[in-house]
Amino acid sequence: MKSPVHRCRDVEHGRGQGRTGSGTSCLQAEQRIPISKDVITSSAASAMWFIRDVCGIVCAAITWLLVLYADFVVLFVMLLPSKNLTYSIVNGTLFNILAFLALASHIRAMCTDPGAVPKGNATKEYIESLQLKPGQVVYKCPKCCSIKPDRAHHCSVCKRCVRKMDHHCPWVNNCVGESNQKYFVLFTMYIALVSLHSLLMVIFHFLYCFEDDWTKCSSFSPPATVILLILLCFEGLLFLVFTSVMFGTQVHSICTDETGIERLKGETGRWGKVPCWEAMQTAFGGPLSPSWCSPFAGLSCKEGPPEHVPVHQGPIIEEDVIEIPLS
Ligand SMILES: [Zn+2]
Ligand SMILES: [Zn+2]
Repeated sequence: MKSPVHRCRDVEHGRGQGRTGSGTSCLQAEQRIPISKDVITSSAASAMWFIRDVCGIVCAAITWLLVLYADFVVLFVMLLPSKNLTYSIVNGTLFNILAFLALASHIRAMCTDPGAVPKGNATKEYIESLQLKPGQVVYKCPKCCSIKPDRAHHCSVCKRCVRKMDHHCPWVNNCVGESNQKYFVLFTMYIALVSLHSLLMVIFHFLYCFEDDWTKCSSFSPPATVILLILLCFEGLLFLVFTSVMFGTQVHSICTDETGIERLKGETGRWGKVPCWEAMQTAFGGPLSPSWCSPFAGLSCKEGPPEHVPVHQGPIIEEDVIEIPLS
């Protein structure tokens, strides 16, 4: 059960959106029992989850190009011309495994339904099908006309309400929510590791080239080698800092059972918080195991409902705050 603060917040929100229904404005606080997020679940359908947002698609493509650029410099500027075969094989394998896991996590974060609530399900028929208790209150999102589960927020890019939405990330062209947070955490972790690895290799390569003849330490000309290495150094440093901070923030969010939006809006402490370890197990899909680090394990690529097929037939109700009648 939520605190009165939250009830007021949602009731005020309903008023602000021009609620036309009668009877809800004079509800007693004790009667308003928010619907549990477990009651409303995302419907499965055959369409693949992908957000058609130009900015997001461009950012996601840039992410891939930057990883491919790093791979090119690591392989063709540093490792292949190297005389030390063991050094090249070990570092080449490690770098490519990390880069592959980073890109796989990126695809999973992008193509997984973050926990979207079915669009347009705010119908009388659907609310009746929930079989709620008299006096219970549900909230409608006025933007996507869905019945909002607890802790769901509307994303203006995805045009959907997303359960436990943390933020919308253009770099993965998707919202980070309840169902894809693991993949986003893995993406930030592998990008941080791949950046650190490439930075260390650049430092070793510079040291090696300063000691040796510059013309022999790369198959490219010395000026081209320096430019390519400096660009990689800059990219690695930038992404190491950015993704490390993001990784830390995400793990902190999971541990404290508090999303980025909830922290921003000051909506903290109005739900029964799950202990840190339990929250981690929920987010990563089970008890601690190597599958926590695998973008292929756990959650399968979830599919969202088709855009134009109404989830529940019937006219959309007008009220933003709906109370189940007592009788
Ligand atoms: Zn919405
Ligand atoms: Zn979004």
